[in-house]
Amino acid sequence: MKTLIENMRNGVDEAGIRRAGELLRQGGLVAFPTETVYGLGADALDAEAAAKIYRAKGRPSDNPLIVHIADWDAIGRIAADIPTEAKRLADAFWPGPLTMILKKSEVVPFATTGGLETVAVRLPDHEVARALIRAGGGYVAAPSANTSGRPSPTKAEHVAQDLDGVIDMIIDGGDVEIGIESTIVDLTEGRPTILRPGYISREMLAGVLGRVEVDRALFAEDEHLRPKAPGMRYRHYAPRAQLFIVEGAQQRVRETINARAAENAEKGRCTGVIGTDESQDYYANALVKSIGSRTDESSIARHLYSILREFDESEVSVIYSESFDTPQMGQAIMNRLIKAAGHQIISV
Ligand code: AMP
Ligand code: MG
Repeated sequence: MKTLIENMRNGVDEAGIRRAGELLRQGGLVAFPTETVYGLGADALDAEAAAKIYRAKGRPSDNPLIVHIADWDAIGRIAADIPTEAKRLADAFWPGPLTMILKKSEVVPFATTGGLETVAVRLPDHEVARALIRAGGGYVAAPSANTSGRPSPTKAEHVAQDLDGVIDMIIDGGDVEIGIESTIVDLTEGRPTILRPGYISREMLAGVLGRVEVDRALFAEDEHLRPKAPGMRYRHYAPRAQLFIVEGAQQRVRETINARAAENAEKGRCTGVIGTDESQDYYANALVKSIGSRTDESSIARHLYSILREFDESEVSVIYSESFDTPQMGQAIMNRLIKAAGHQIISV
């Protein structure tokens, strides 16, 4: 299959959106930019189209898709018994990087929800995304546009690396703004519960709803605790090289990483380091990549996945990453990094 590329780096191109919408209505797959990461879209109400997403990504069929809408009013058709919390959250955070789990209506096929009676819904804060959703019929199922097991794509080139020749179209909207997937909050069982941390923090949600829980399984080392979001149960991504997170006082972290890099160099092994603008000059004997300034968490979130992809193209056999316990997105950033590291953490 030839994958068409539509350039919308400068915003919505009406003719291109019409072509893309037509592809979605015919059951095709279109990758598109959102403010979080690139999504791989299909008509969410068409079971066969949704099934194509799983095939293209190599995604386990029990890992449900998020349904993207372009207007609040669209929610009534796909969700049932919508609690008042949903509207309050939508007023506060939509369009934006928040996904809500609600009871699904009859029209949403189980192919889209991975067999669940619930549906995940999000209204993205991206003009191109919303134009595409409207042109495609109003309901676009879209997980991240990577092959399963690879880091989520934060630019169109990442999508092409994984899915060129496999999907109908890629809409190139340039680099995404946030770089980490949406916060998922479950509104179907008792107290609202975060199933996946993201840009919208627990404190921000609590500011609207009062108390908000966090799925205990997310940060537990105990593998018997099963995360409620099926996708959080899978090993999301592991780089080719071994990845270790080094946490502790800044100076000790730098010394530890340098000592290890020196040892590796003696053995003829290449070391990678994920550092910051502040620390990068400190490191020796390593391929050092700065994730941005330690004081700018949006830069850290935005660069995390592309740095992991870059290391896969290098010769390094082991990577040490500093730890990024930032104020708003720290949980989300560390959740992704810890998964990529397979929980290998060195405390110093
Ligand atoms: P992705 O778009 O690749 O980030 O994947 C979507 C995420 O949403 C996965 O972690 C899914 O497990 C989660 N998700 C989607 N629908 C539901 C649902 N009905 N209940 C719980 N989690 C869901
Ligand atoms: Mg994903």
